[in-house]
Amino acid sequence: MNAHQTRFEPVTEADRMTVAEQLGRPPRAMRAIAARCPSGHPSVVQTSPRLENGTPFPTLYYLTCPRLCSLVGKLEASGIMREMTERLASDPELAAAYQRAHDSYLAERDAIESLGHEVTAGGMPGRVKCLHVHLAHTLAAGPGVNPFGDETLELLRAEWPSGDCAAAE
Ligand SMILES: [Zn+2]
Repeated sequence: MNAHQTRFEPVTEADRMTVAEQLGRPPRAMRAIAARCPSGHPSVVQTSPRLENGTPFPTLYYLTCPRLCSLVGKLEASGIMREMTERLASDPELAAAYQRAHDSYLAERDAIESLGHEVTAGGMPGRVKCLHVHLAHTLAAGPGVNPFGDETLELLRAEWPSGDCAAAE
């Protein structure tokens, strides 16, 4: 399990400051930078299953890039999550892939600390509730792990063609 974590870079003080700027507050329980945008800034952080005060925090991968957060917010406003959730009922292959994404998410989180229940994040495995969560999972884990994260990334391509946030400013 730890082999998986070692591919993430440790957090530097500069990263911590960048993430604080992105979030508008100091990052909480940040374990690692799980992904970066091509322009170099952190785009996803890995967060501990509990915050410093012990509060459970089931979102293992948290999207921090403001540009990606805003693009995903626009996509969510179109109501696309309802259509995605409906497809789970009619597409057994998709439902199975989504179940595997849930299992993988849970296994990675449990390897750090179990929260003692089967709740992952973003609505997994039965619903699609938050595309920020799914995109963060895809960016952290790579393609082929979370089908809705992969779809979200594809849907953003038109507005984020090079993936370079600095060039887009
Ligand atoms: Zn970015």
